[in-house]
Amino acid sequence: MLSKQAIMERAHELDFEDVGFTSAEPFTSQDKILQSHSEAYAWLKDIGVDLFTGTDPKSILPNACSIIVLIECYFREAFPASLEGKFGRCYLDDDRITRDGLTRRLKAFRSFLREDGIESAVPFNLPHRLAAARAGLGDFGKNCLFYSNKAARGSSWVVPLAVVVDRDFSPDEPTVGVGCPDWCRNACIAACPTGALESPRRIEPRKCISFLTYHGQGLTPLELREPMGVWLYGCDRCQEVCPRNQAWLAQELPMNAKVAARAPDFELSRLLHMDAAHYETRVWPHMFYMAFTDRWRWQMNAARAMGNTRDQRYVPDLIRALRENEDERVRAMAAWALGRLGGSDAYAALKTAANDSAEIVRNEIARTLTGFPMPVQDRQQ
Ligand code: SF4
Ligand code: SF4
Repeated sequence: MLSKQAIMERAHELDFEDVGFTSAEPFTSQDKILQSHSEAYAWLKDIGVDLFTGTDPKSILPNACSIIVLIECYFREAFPASLEGKFGRCYLDDDRITRDGLTRRLKAFRSFLREDGIESAVPFNLPHRLAAARAGLGDFGKNCLFYSNKAARGSSWVVPLAVVVDRDFSPDEPTVGVGCPDWCRNACIAACPTGALESPRRIEPRKCISFLTYHGQGLTPLELREPMGVWLYGCDRCQEVCPRNQAWLAQELPMNAKVAARAPDFELSRLLHMDAAHYETRVWPHMFYMAFTDRWRWQMNAARAMGNTRDQRYVPDLIRALRENEDERVRAMAAWALGRLGGSDAYAALKTAANDSAEIVRNEIARTLTGFPMPVQDRQQ
């Protein structure tokens, strides 16, 4: 019979940072939260994620007795500067499609359990963070994120993996609660660009940039375009400003060679003009929350990010997108971004495209030209 000690040793051999145990009791507090915010989380049901079912481990594994929680640090290595600040770090080395990293280690862990007759399930809809806190592995920040007790210098750069098992193990002492220092004046809430963090431990998911980048519908509303900055997929802002994460951020980490090798595939220009083949083979296998039919949203996000760089070198790319992109939402965002960057080339391109076939593009251009800082040569005509 496997002991807790043997399981912990195997988990560490497989490079997991920490491991804890909790019972398979239902997560009733989570159930209540979901019930009271059902409207805010309704979109998850639309994409096939049922969080309500996940609050009862027995609905996932009928003989569930315990949950073993493994802590994985997704930021053990550095990421290229061209990707930092544009992509949530937890997505940069995500192998859920390629299955060539964490998935293999998790599989090896479950095989180890199975050899001793333990059946397991790793449900994606179980409240992993709460399970981890219940297993004594960490607590919460006011930004709603989970902070590890031991891994990654007590930071939030970790993901808990809850493995539901059909064998009883004595539970560890829970550490559920908020672990923020009193002296922190809610830096995460102040820094959230879209106001998604409404108050301590309360987030409106539909206002979060992470949601907006991959699930936002239609042309991004004008009032969100600047606050969304250059984020393309996810957002780490509330983690970057957090004092609890500074010890980890202050380190020199070795570069993640795998991610560095594919960084050129994710450059703004490449994304803005990518064809279906590039999207499906080079981008989607690593960041898959958007469907194949949503290439336009990636391109729209790239155009918005270009505008927010305030970097003139993107003007030719945006002019090309305004002229050539087949999706009106991308052309409209390219027009907005050209307005952000300004200059005579941008102005001329907007004037030329003023009779675009799509109304939303014509409207966007008309509004952009109204507030456009007129280039000097045009003022003199
Ligand atoms: S991830 Fe970004 S947008 Fe979402 S709550 Fe944090 S700071 Fe706000
Ligand atoms: S920024 Fe401050 S309040 Fe927010 S999670 Fe970090 S320590 Fe807590």
